[in-house]
Amino acid sequence: MISSAEVADRFGALRERLSRAGGDKVKVVAVTKGFGPDSVAAAIGAGLADVGENYAQELLSKSNSLSAQPGIDLQPRWHFIGRLQRNKIRKIASLVHIWQSVDRPELASEIARRAPSATVLVQVDIAGKDGRGGCPPSEITRLVRHCRDAGLEVAGLMAVGPPGPPELARPGFRLLSTQAADLGLPELSMGMSADIEVAVEEGATMVRVGTALFGARPR
Ligand SMILES: *Cc1c(COP(=O)(O)O)cnc(C)c1O
Repeated sequence: MISSAEVADRFGALRERLSRAGGDKVKVVAVTKGFGPDSVAAAIGAGLADVGENYAQELLSKSNSLSAQPGIDLQPRWHFIGRLQRNKIRKIASLVHIWQSVDRPELASEIARRAPSATVLVQVDIAGKDGRGGCPPSEITRLVRHCRDAGLEVAGLMAVGPPGPPELARPGFRLLSTQAADLGLPELSMGMSADIEVAVEEGATMVRVGTALFGARPR
């Protein structure tokens, strides 16, 4: 079990890190993948209203489990941040606040069908390796246009940095930042526990943080 007090402590330390990097206004999405519903309750208790999940089934079961708790209303604003499967969109369409991992036209079309005018971020592959998701940088403009034509609200771009030392992420974060500015997109979701400083220095408006708030993920 993870307590609100523990998460609040770590959130305080995280805010200090963000602040030192110049990111006082950066939004924090608490990433609870791999942890139980208690982690979501603890996040909300610590003042983190935005929660990110990677798997549709996990998001659904945590949401259901929170709804089943008597008394207070415990739903966070859910951000979907993982590899999205087209056939899972319907199940979570009514729950998701921002779809952060839209990386191909078929996903955009299906989200538009199940959650008309939903807010999305276009995920870009800045690591140059497969497995972490994202469209190639050369496809951003086309995909943004496809999302808009489908009636979706494109708020910005999202990316996952490459594994390894945080500095390795800088060129990709910078590319993302330049692309977002060129397209007039306000939100930049980049930076995780290990590389939030580099992300903030390169203009992140939103960081997605798991281990720095909840500790190591259970296997
Ligand atoms: C797991 C995950 C995070 C959080 O990673 P940490 O290193 O635990 O902070 C952020 N974004 C995405 C897309 C993730 O899959």
